[in-house]
Amino acid sequence: MESTVASKLEALSKLQSIDSQLDEIRRVRGDLPEEVQDLEDEIEGYEVRVRKFDDEVANLNDSIGQRKQAIKDSESLIRKYEEQQQNVRNNREYDAITKEVELQKLEIQISEKKIKEAHYQIDQKKSEIEGTKHRLEERRKDLENKRKELDLIVGESEEEEKALEKDRDKAAANIEDRLLSAYSRIRKNVRNGLAVVPVKRDACGGCFNTVPPQRQADIAAQKKVIVCEHCGRILAGVEQRVY
Ligand SMILES: [Zn+2]
Repeated sequence: MESTVASKLEALSKLQSIDSQLDEIRRVRGDLPEEVQDLEDEIEGYEVRVRKFDDEVANLNDSIGQRKQAIKDSESLIRKYEEQQQNVRNNREYDAITKEVELQKLEIQISEKKIKEAHYQIDQKKSEIEGTKHRLEERRKDLENKRKELDLIVGESEEEEKALEKDRDKAAANIEDRLLSAYSRIRKNVRNGLAVVPVKRDACGGCFNTVPPQRQADIAAQKKVIVCEHCGRILAGVEQRVY
């Protein structure tokens, strides 16, 4: 009888150890794809911002080009007017042309001001985008590393996972159905997936509530399967305090 309970507890502990390893594999893998996804989203956001910036700079350069053309047009008009001015018949015509020339000179001034403003805006946008481009480069490197890590982990853990699943089937086959379903139920209900824990430092290894000395003695005697009265976990063995 004593050895039966002891072997049940041993089988359960072994199953727990295998399940904990499987949990860890899935936990590690579970985080990485999400991290990769987060990085991809962040990078996409930066890329959109950089593209928008490129569009804005292109538009500003277009308007600079248009303004430069407008200046050339005004200058040729002024040359034309000045030629006309040499052939005027009276002061009224002379003054009218002078007004036209002044108007074109004003147009040139406005265009020059607009060009200056556009250059200033381009400079502002360039310094704004520097930071974004820098972060984009950093995140791209992060993403590359994370993807490598994920590929490696998935590649490595696939075999390990298969081997552990085989071991798990073997270990589970040694445990009676009633106990196995109790074990599965506890595992589902606890946060860390630990259904079988030792008593450590006079406390349950799962919830850390104190286990009274008499109960510890019963657990150590291995005459029956004892669960923690606080969390319901199976208590397998008592780790001796090391002084
Ligand atoms: Zn407990």
